[in-house]
Amino acid sequence: MPPFHPDYFLKPENHMLYRALLMCAIVAGLAACDAGNEESANLETRAQIDTARISDIVKVMAADEFEGRAPGTPGEDRTVAYLVEQFANLGLEPGGQDGSWTQTVPMIHTQVQAMEVLSFSAGDTLQPLQQKVDIEISTVRAVESIGIDAPVVFVGFGASAPERDWDDFGDIDLEGKVALFLVNDPDFAATPGEAVAGRFGDRRMTYYGRWTYKFEEAARRGAAAALVIHETEAAGYGWNVASSSPGENYAVVRDGSGVQPVALQGWLHNDAATALFAAAGYDLDQLRASARRPDFEAFELPGARFVADLSVTFEHFQSSNVLALLPGDTRPDEFLMVSGHWDAYGVGEPDAQGRTVRPGAHDDALGIAGVLEIARVLRAGAPLDRSVVFAAWTAEESGLLGSDYYADNPVYPLERTVANLTLDILQTAGPARDVILVGEGQSELEDDLARLAATQGRYVTPENLPENGLFFRADHFPLARRGVPVLLSMAIAGGADLVEGGREAGDGWIADYIAACYHQTCDSWDPDWDLRGAAEDIDLFRLIIEDLGNSTRWPQWKAGSEFKAVREQSQSMRR
Ligand SMILES: [Zn+2]
Repeated sequence: MPPFHPDYFLKPENHMLYRALLMCAIVAGLAACDAGNEESANLETRAQIDTARISDIVKVMAADEFEGRAPGTPGEDRTVAYLVEQFANLGLEPGGQDGSWTQTVPMIHTQVQAMEVLSFSAGDTLQPLQQKVDIEISTVRAVESIGIDAPVVFVGFGASAPERDWDDFGDIDLEGKVALFLVNDPDFAATPGEAVAGRFGDRRMTYYGRWTYKFEEAARRGAAAALVIHETEAAGYGWNVASSSPGENYAVVRDGSGVQPVALQGWLHNDAATALFAAAGYDLDQLRASARRPDFEAFELPGARFVADLSVTFEHFQSSNVLALLPGDTRPDEFLMVSGHWDAYGVGEPDAQGRTVRPGAHDDALGIAGVLEIARVLRAGAPLDRSVVFAAWTAEESGLLGSDYYADNPVYPLERTVANLTLDILQTAGPARDVILVGEGQSELEDDLARLAATQGRYVTPENLPENGLFFRADHFPLARRGVPVLLSMAIAGGADLVEGGREAGDGWIADYIAACYHQTCDSWDPDWDLRGAAEDIDLFRLIIEDLGNSTRWPQWKAGSEFKAVREQSQSMRR
């Protein structure tokens, strides 16, 4: 670690360190001062993750003027301008395309409008469907109207998983039909002894459990529409969350080649699904059990049809990922990445207090504040050998779109990206004795997490809700899918062992947040937050970045990880 970066000692916070080093040099010679250097840094000279700064950043980003930070709105313009200003003020370099601070993400925004007709029918029963009440349906296609009058196929969990010796589809032809999926994966609700138990990671959700997978699989099979039957426990969130932006969707604009998305996609309320199956002569709960059997095969509901005739408005627009670079000193072409997402849920229906802005204070203004704080502290310290890229992604809430676009169009080669550390939702309930690990058993980064958490006097606890599939639900995932080792800090992955109140208080914080605030108007800035725990989580990521930033190590995926193979293909490019 080179001790004398050109402007390092010009910073007021480093003056003490300078004096300490100077004394050290006079007394003992510079070579002997490394230990003293670190000690003084820890004492009073080193920049620290600052809870007041975190609060200030969130207060700005969650203010009404930012309009809930929806991509493609004036709220995006304000947010991007604010972030660029912050990174520039910290003395970072533009890290985007062509020397800019951003990467342009071409997007489409759609809104399903008037419902001329939206219904199920089975036999003599006509079952009208009301958007947001019975169904939440949207499109990612650039079309002005959608008309569907098609048979309905129940596909169970809709998993096509040859490596797990599982196929829900059999010989069924989904072309032009409407596919109904159960949420989560086949062994989520299995009891011990059932043939399926453990086939899909037990309670831990596999990618087959994600609605993104289900829509992708329906599209691959040419379905006209795909609906996932909502259940709160198996989805990990309530109907209020599933239906919070009825009819609205976003997507990255792709060229016309390849698989086209289904025309309509969304959630079906459990009550509406139960009624449809009853009209067709089936009991949904019984079907849930039979869908867990290895011999289950998709089948058409006899006489059932889904009819939709609706108009769509859409607009193309450009959104932006914000990227900043802290160049490495000796190996600048090796990259570490710290990221969060700047977007939130925009403006929606008024709540009981008349609030319409969904400000995304925890989700993910707090994560972005963490990214900025890590940037500030690293910039104030001695330069690292490796470069650090700071990313604020767009459109995470619309399906990880900004990070997915980056992963397809990386500004820094993914094979030379050492790791991605993602901050998404931090807790505001105070210091914790532990840190929650999402995606246990995936990569060696979890060993770094444990080792450096120990230096904070903290221990690691695996997420307590692996069935929610959080490992697939944040912006680290598109990078993981392409082989970059990842760590995710996400406060809703499990209640922390809080210094005040222990695990019970940690779990209580999550329950309150999910029930009332997640993606809602109440996820707003609060001057009374206790940010000490969040600051420790942020600082833990800073420690990992510093450690890897001065190392030649390339953390590996662990045996059994589904991401190991793709990383190994690019092994030779890391030597
Ligand atoms: Zn988030």
